[in-house]
Amino acid sequence: WSSETVAVVTGANRGIGYEIARQLASHGLCVILTARDADRGRATADGLRGEGLNVEFRQLDVMDADSIKSFTKWVGDKYGGLDILVNNAGVNFNTGADNSVEFAEKVIATNYVGTKRIIETLIPKMRPSSSGSRILNVSSRLGRVNGRRNRVGNATLREQLLKDDCLSEELIDGMVTNLLHQVKEGTWASNDWPQMFTDYSVSKLAVNSYTRLMARRLADRPEGHKIYINCYCPGWVKTAMTGWEGNATPEVGADTGVWIILLPSQQATTGKFFAERREISF
Ligand code: NDP
Repeated sequence: WSSETVAVVTGANRGIGYEIARQLASHGLCVILTARDADRGRATADGLRGEGLNVEFRQLDVMDADSIKSFTKWVGDKYGGLDILVNNAGVNFNTGADNSVEFAEKVIATNYVGTKRIIETLIPKMRPSSSGSRILNVSSRLGRVNGRRNRVGNATLREQLLKDDCLSEELIDGMVTNLLHQVKEGTWASNDWPQMFTDYSVSKLAVNSYTRLMARRLADRPEGHKIYINCYCPGWVKTAMTGWEGNATPEVGADTGVWIILLPSQQATTGKFFAERREISF
């Protein structure tokens, strides 16, 4: 990695995304700090540049097709593409112990569909590199298929999600569509879904499953064009999303993410889920 390495981070105007951007830039990389709000994003990037870091701002709203299109063209024109993509942007409307699914559509559209769209659009712009380019999805343990405290209730779905032969985009999209349908019908509170933060947990379950699926799809790329894709849980981090509750600072929350991204090529893995610098199960 060098000052020529271009890393793009979504939702980086605050919280964990900001910290990932800051730490990557501290390692000497060229970081494109993106945010949906141009004023907030620009001010944040200016602050980091003031600390001597190589950080540039560009607007990117992961829910807005025009914004994604214009960002993709810009990064291609200006840098010939990118080497590292961190999908961090996310929303959650559950506060405390409630399980509001009032905003389920927005949660799924941002956390899962937005992430997927960014990946699909930016993969063709990932630059060839001997160490392999990297995609990291910021996810959550709440989205584990067999989480100890929050597992998927439907046994058939659990099995399908974990079997490589069954895992497909149709399965993942079908799952989120099914949840949204049930939310509209008022029937979502069945035993089929994770019981805590249901809409958020399903959005991260979808991100995790999509990470595994993409790792498989990208596996055949030839040497020099490899793309490694992984996801990780930052822990319970004190940010706006948690109402500043948690047991880790954003700095600590970003650490595992930055560690995965910067792993030397001999140690680079793909299609894995990490937390606290260790691999964990899906
Ligand atoms: P924050 O709310 O502090 O940050 C979320 C960021 O995402 C903000 O910059 C926000 O922008 C941005 N964002 C939201 N929607 C969009 C969009 N449509 N386009 C672009 N950016 C968008 O939360 P965290 O830092 O805690 O969250 C970062 C990631 O970490 C999320 O994916 C979250 O799910 C994940 N995570 C967090 C945990 C925690 O304990 N904090 C635990 C597990 C996972 P804006 O400022 O404009 O709202």
